[in-house]
Amino acid sequence: MQTSLFENTETAFALKSDSELERAYFLFKMISKEPLVRIGTAAARFALGANLPVEGLIRSTVFDHFCGGVNEQDCMTSVDKLYSANVCSVLDYSVEGKEEAASFDECMNKVIGLVKFADEKEAMPIVVFKPTGVGRFAIWQKLTEGEELDAKEQVEWERIKERVNAICKIAYERDVEVLIDGEESWMQGAADDLVAEMMALYNKEKPIVYNTLQCYRHDRLDYLKKLHLEARARGFTIGIKVVRGAYMEKEHKRAKEKGYPTPICASKQATDENFNATMRYIIENLNDISLFLGTHNEDSSLLAVKLMGEMGIAKEDNRVWFGQLYGMSDHISFNLAKEGYNVAKYLPFGPVKDVMPYLMRRAEENTSVAGQTNRELELLKAEKKRRRL
Ligand SMILES: Cc1cc2nc3c(=O)[nH]c(=O)nc-3n(C[C@H](O)[C@H](O)[C@H](O)COP(=O)(O)OP(=O)(O)OC[C@H]3O[C@@H](n4cnc5c(N)ncnc54)[C@H](O)[C@@H]3O)c2cc1C
Repeated sequence: MQTSLFENTETAFALKSDSELERAYFLFKMISKEPLVRIGTAAARFALGANLPVEGLIRSTVFDHFCGGVNEQDCMTSVDKLYSANVCSVLDYSVEGKEEAASFDECMNKVIGLVKFADEKEAMPIVVFKPTGVGRFAIWQKLTEGEELDAKEQVEWERIKERVNAICKIAYERDVEVLIDGEESWMQGAADDLVAEMMALYNKEKPIVYNTLQCYRHDRLDYLKKLHLEARARGFTIGIKVVRGAYMEKEHKRAKEKGYPTPICASKQATDENFNATMRYIIENLNDISLFLGTHNEDSSLLAVKLMGEMGIAKEDNRVWFGQLYGMSDHISFNLAKEGYNVAKYLPFGPVKDVMPYLMRRAEENTSVAGQTNRELELLKAEKKRRRL
């Protein structure tokens, strides 16, 4: 497939100074080496755990490349910069692995604050949160696995539902779309059910609440078709973020340990086909389902562009959004935005220590998906050369 739409490195890196370009090149060069990433992530985990003064080093390298800052205010420079190139921001409070009610409430309050803010700031039309950001993993898991909750857990679950509802309700009132991230399959069933209920409540007129389908799971298109039937019967619309999925190794490992068949597609190609088929299904049913396409894959992004063209869907149609992570695949984001498509970057923020799981996933992802890192390096190299000339 032709990729010329994404080849313009001047557009891709227009917002990067020469020194930022150098830093990005250095960073991707480092994380392309798997042993280095393994040693680096282990050392960072240890150093932060032991309160060694490494935050500054992490901040000025990986953190600043992949994150907007430690709080919302910090992110505004990046938000405004991105918006100057017509790229919107989805601020992502990326604190993970917390288990206390207070941090779940804090996350809810952050997201609600962002909804209120998004209402005033055109550059931030969408918010996001993770189910495990507002409730304990074990509760989601128990419900997904069909286990009974005890009385205390039942109270906890009611509180989780209240948090999710509070976010979706204000998003509805303020007309701000809310994306709910997809996580591990063994907790996702309960999240799917709750998100479908939120859609039934708040997506009557148009999609406000979006669930995430991870297409490395072979059952997701069937799930979407069932949800589509339910939505038609109950009279609501659907919002879907389509991604490939970020927890593949964890999924395989657990399936092997517990002795059940892995929920993951048999090959990368099977995941790609599943992703493209799911995306096609949505684009063909845009009157009922809106799409947020979260991918760094050039072929899938180009296929979406092609399908939109074939079906006469305007580039700026609000029912189709393209999304990439901050610090990755700028050549897709900025070239699509320049062409007039709706594009948003996930912009993570939070205290350095708490954002580490997110950063480690990015480092590991860029190592294991070798093709992607090499592509980033090639593009950065091409832009450095272009600037020298
Ligand atoms: C805006 C945005 C939001 C995101 N939100 C979420 C989210 O809510 N939940 C989530 O889990 N992830 C999320 N991700 C991450 C996403 O799932 C992918 O990990 C990442 O984007 C890489 O996939 P890709 O489509 O960009 O491209 P590619 O590089 O083409 O695909 C890599 C992906 O293919 C799959 N894959 C690789 N090898 C195999 C194999 N042998 N067999 C089967 N499948 C394979 C894996 O999913 C791998 O991550 C998000 C990504 C973006 C850009």
